[in-house]
Amino acid sequence: MTDAVVAPCGACGSQVDCVGIVLCLTCRSRLLDALSAVPRILDHLAVVARLEVGCQSLYSGRGGNPAERDILPAAWLAADELKALVDSWVLLVRDKMRKPPALADGGYRYLLRCREWIGYQDWAPDLLAELRREIGTCRARWPLPDDSESARELPIACPRGCGRNQVIYPPTYPGQPITIACDCGWICPEDAQDFLAQCYYAVKRSQTAA
Ligand SMILES: [Zn+2]
Ligand SMILES: [Zn+2]
Repeated sequence: MTDAVVAPCGACGSQVDCVGIVLCLTCRSRLLDALSAVPRILDHLAVVARLEVGCQSLYSGRGGNPAERDILPAAWLAADELKALVDSWVLLVRDKMRKPPALADGGYRYLLRCREWIGYQDWAPDLLAELRREIGTCRARWPLPDDSESARELPIACPRGCGRNQVIYPPTYPGQPITIACDCGWICPEDAQDFLAQCYYAVKRSQTAA
C-alpha cells in the first residue's frame, strides 16, 4: 500500500473514504447486507424445497418411487448454488489472506468476519457483484415473504399425533396456494384448501390487529 493514489470504488465508481481501499463505504455496506441476507435466503429456499417435495409425494401418490426422488426441487438446487458460490469465495479468502482466521464457521459467516480485509482486495467488486446477482436471482424467483407474512404456528395439533402444532406457510409467490404443514412431514391435503385459506386470512387479520 505505498501507492497514495486514491482510485474510485471498484464496484460503483464513487469516491472511496480511504487510501488503498477498493470498495466505497456504500458498497461495503452492500456487501454486509448481501452476506447477512444469505442465511435468511437459505432458510427460505429450504422451506420452499420441503414444500415442493411434500406436495410431489402427497399428490403424485408415488412418493416412494426412487426415480422420482432424483428430481430435486429447483429451490434446493438454487440453495446449493448460493452455498457453492459463498464457499468458493471462502476458499479464495483463505488462499489470499496472509493469516486467515481458523475455519471454525465456514460459509457466509467466514466472509462476514473477513469483510473489512475483503474491502481492500482488487477482486472485492467481483465478489460483491456475484453475490448480489445470485441473491437477486433467488429473490426474484422465490420472493421472501415479508416479515408480517412469515410462517406462523397454528394452535392446532398435528393430526399425526407427533406432538407438534401445524404451521401455516403464506404463498411465496403470487398465485401459489397457501400450505399448512408440520415439521414431521405431514402436509394438509389439497381438498382442505378452503380451510387453509380461512386459517391464513384469520392469521393475517390477527397479525394486523396486533
Ligand atoms: Zn462503491
Ligand atoms: Zn406432525
